[in-house]
Amino acid sequence: MYDLIVIGGGPAGLAAAYEASLNGVQSILIIERDTELGGILNQCIHNGFGLHTFKEELTGPEYADRFINLVRNTNIEIKLNTMVISMEDKKVHAINDSEGYMILEARAIVLAMGCRERTRGAIGIPGDRPSGIFTAGAAQRYVNIEGYMPGKEVVILGSGDIGLIMARRMTLEGAKVKAVVELMPYSNGLNRNIVQCLEDYNIPLYLSHTITDVIGNKRLEKVVISKVDENKKPIKGSEIEFECDTLLLSVGLIPENELSKKAGVILDNRTSGLIVTESMETNVEGIFACGNVVHVHDLVDFVTEEAKNTGRSVAKYLKDGFKKTSYLNIVNGEGINYTVPQKVSIEDIDTNITIFMRVNNVYKDKSIKVISKGKEIAAFKKKHLAPSEMERIVLKKSILEGLEELLLISLE
Ligand SMILES: Cc1cc2nc3c(=O)[nH]c(=O)nc-3n(C[C@H](O)[C@H](O)[C@H](O)COP(=O)(O)OP(=O)(O)OC[C@H]3O[C@@H](n4cnc5c(N)ncnc54)[C@H](O)[C@@H]3O)c2cc1C
Repeated sequence: MYDLIVIGGGPAGLAAAYEASLNGVQSILIIERDTELGGILNQCIHNGFGLHTFKEELTGPEYADRFINLVRNTNIEIKLNTMVISMEDKKVHAINDSEGYMILEARAIVLAMGCRERTRGAIGIPGDRPSGIFTAGAAQRYVNIEGYMPGKEVVILGSGDIGLIMARRMTLEGAKVKAVVELMPYSNGLNRNIVQCLEDYNIPLYLSHTITDVIGNKRLEKVVISKVDENKKPIKGSEIEFECDTLLLSVGLIPENELSKKAGVILDNRTSGLIVTESMETNVEGIFACGNVVHVHDLVDFVTEEAKNTGRSVAKYLKDGFKKTSYLNIVNGEGINYTVPQKVSIEDIDTNITIFMRVNNVYKDKSIKVISKGKEIAAFKKKHLAPSEMERIVLKKSILEGLEELLLISLE
């Protein structure tokens, strides 16, 4: 019996395990299906990681390495090449080729399985089904880890960060990126990535456009894009054709929660991630979660911050347990798409609580207001808000004390 099993050895799993160990948790096991620790960071060889955590611009592998070294200097046990295939209560069923099938038990579990990419099937792109169509993350792995070049003439659908980063990466590797196509009237990526990955390389961004046809017999030959109206319906006559051999899809990430569902953990249908408390505990006692499995983060620094909180919470849970006599539910008001955590046990907050959220549209000069029973208890002025940029507010425990009813967060 372990004190703690962490499923997933990406930045979330590593930071949660390390912080739990720092706070006195004794026997910890990290289970990772890949051959190495580090998660998705291993394939992100661009820089831009760690500005908040280390005040330095690191590459993904460098950022991961810092935490891998910290973990390796503790007595945390690590099982690589080991796939968790199911979970019931706090029993983890895992398999690897040296030990075979294992049922491992722990007093607490941290879910840190990250997320997976949406595919062509998930968004129903019409047309032929030739080869040459990849998710952007798969192409990133081919180029940065396996050493294969997916193609030479490229169109990218989706202007989230992965799409933008891959536009630059493919260009640097000698491909011609003909267009980045975005359904929404705004990009879903960080502003710095639009400048550094598209504008610096003269790659055109087609906002309010989508792919309406894919043409190719064996290999992709052409994609057709069309402008969309305000209901996101393609406008006839607006078609533009691009000859290309490769289409990269960067059309969203889905938290990887098949295991969580099997263990009875409740999902939030707005994020497809998990419903958690201020301690990052799910509805199943002793099962915690952090990182992209809870909600898709744009910055790994926030993943680390959330994971450290999770590690400290696990230590507290194993030592004294939580008080949690009552919960304050955080409800999304106008303009807010989701918040994490969704539930707060005020007695279990130390001094303050960080709430992560995303808005549902682009806004300028707005305030995020925290309201209880119609009374404003805090407000945060924001010059610019966009769905692609995760917001974070910190509330003092003292202002939440005594509140019993719903806490509303809305934009005004
Ligand atoms: C293309 C791209 C570019 C990015 N660029 C930036 C950037 O410039 N700056 C920045 O700060 N952030 C960036 N990020 C975001 C950052 O990399 C992620 O937020 C972070 O990696 C998420 O950490 P995680 O641990 O939650 O998930 P992951 O890194 O995905 O780790 C999850 C781990 O769990 C393992 N796992 C899953 N299921 C199982 C199972 N059943 N059994 C065993 N192991 C399992 C996986 O193999 C994986 O190693 C980028 C992300 C991507 C994809």
